[in-house]
Amino acid sequence: MNQPKNPSVIAREALKRLAASHLPPTPANYQASYNQIADLPNVAPFPDVPLRQIAGLLAARNDTQVQQLIRLDEAIGRRSWLGVQEAVLAFVGAGNAGGGKDDAEPVALQVLPLELLAKLASFVENVLPALGADNDRVGELAAALLQALRQAPVDLAEIQSRLASLGQQALFAAEEQVEIKDSLLNLLRLIIENVGELSLDDSWLKGQVDGLLAVVQPPLTLRHLDDMGRRLRDVMVKQSEAKHRSLEAQEEMRQMLAAFIERLAAINESSTVFQGKIEASARAIANVKRIEDLAPLLNDVITATRSMAEGTSDSRLQLQSLQERVLATEAELVQLHLELDNASALARHDPLTDALNRKGLDEALAREIAGMWRKGTALSICLLDIDNFKRLNDRLGHDVGDHALVHLTRVARQCMRPSDTLARYGGEEFVILMPDTVLEQGIEAMTRLQRELTKAFFLSGKEKVLITFSAGVAQLSPDETGSDAIRRADQAMYAAKRAGKNRVVGG
Ligand code: GH3
Ligand code: MG
Ligand code: MG
Repeated sequence: MNQPKNPSVIAREALKRLAASHLPPTPANYQASYNQIADLPNVAPFPDVPLRQIAGLLAARNDTQVQQLIRLDEAIGRRSWLGVQEAVLAFVGAGNAGGGKDDAEPVALQVLPLELLAKLASFVENVLPALGADNDRVGELAAALLQALRQAPVDLAEIQSRLASLGQQALFAAEEQVEIKDSLLNLLRLIIENVGELSLDDSWLKGQVDGLLAVVQPPLTLRHLDDMGRRLRDVMVKQSEAKHRSLEAQEEMRQMLAAFIERLAAINESSTVFQGKIEASARAIANVKRIEDLAPLLNDVITATRSMAEGTSDSRLQLQSLQERVLATEAELVQLHLELDNASALARHDPLTDALNRKGLDEALAREIAGMWRKGTALSICLLDIDNFKRLNDRLGHDVGDHALVHLTRVARQCMRPSDTLARYGGEEFVILMPDTVLEQGIEAMTRLQRELTKAFFLSGKEKVLITFSAGVAQLSPDETGSDAIRRADQAMYAAKRAGKNRVVGG
């Protein structure tokens, strides 16, 4: 008779055997191994044999189900209940997913959760306006589908057929919407061109119209439309300002002209009076018999002459001041037009590069931050400063410096995404807002811009001018403002300068 083994010896041996068999060290496997060594009946052996029999009865009807049968077999081999459960559930799911061609389908549809139907209903309701509120056919089909989705008991066959009809109509409606959008865009372009034709002599308005035409180029994004709206509003504000000021100036001119004419009339009148007095005095002098009678007459002549001279000099002074005021008003009008011409680059855009200016940046930043909160996405902000720009200006001239700024913005625009925003922050400093971008991606984007810039040099005479920049990138954190993030990007930019320039540093 075998001597009963010491439990600790059995335990050690059971562990060794478990390891040698490459079975996972689960309590069930350990128990089985222990029982085997101790010659004890295996109380709860893993039922691999019956499980394999059941697995053999399952018929796969698609590739996914074949895969799951393989997984099931492996799980049984590993004696893993969890693995068996996962493989069986995935096998059933693969049958429901549309691979089955026969009676499995209604069974699968029956298990569609009500929550999913409710979500489908609200999805249909939400996308409906995008397909055109005036499309009756889509409206009717959507209403029928919504009713089917919300009725109890659920009739899945009906839902399926109504969904198919709506899908078909929705496709037509969506195509129609695209056409409508294109036609509207064309119409808008025509109107803007027409306005431009009507005001050929107004260079300021012409500048505005060119800007608008550039914005109307497809693809038409919400950002473009927003920009267009702002530009148009600026045009209107500036125009009404100019009109108001012109009317005021006209009124001033009219009043001055009236005063001028009155003055002329007064001069004329006073000289007629003077002439009358002199003639009367001349007649009186001719009739004077005694010398002592002449003195008062001479006094009259002298007084009349003096008052005439005073009147004339008064008039001269007044006319002079009127003339000065006319000239000042005229100069003011010229200045007003000059300002308007300058403003043609718009209140929100930098006239040299057409990038946004500080005001435009503030607005765009507020908009992007709101979008970030709404969509729960990241926003990265980059501040870049051209390297050794003063030297470039000194060596090649200010005009070439200007050209370099325009060149940089052009290259930046080409390699930025349409959703990114470019703004001129200061002289040779720019800010780029990158929505939906985490810090690493922002750094990557700026490094890409650096690479593009080394490829795309520009010519000053025959000299190839290479521009480099140093940049700092910061990802806006939930607890900071846009200015805080710009400040961090600025600090990172300075770190890039200190580290030797022509590089990008994350803040
Ligand atoms: P760093 O690499 O450290 O940035 O040196 P830098 O020379 O670029 O920087 P600094 O701030 O010393 O000089 C910036 C120069 O940019 C000085 C200014 O004259 C020039 N600048 C600013 N705005 C304009 C502009 O609109 N056109 C031109 N041509 N130059 C400008
Ligand atoms: Mg600078
Ligand atoms: Mg610089």
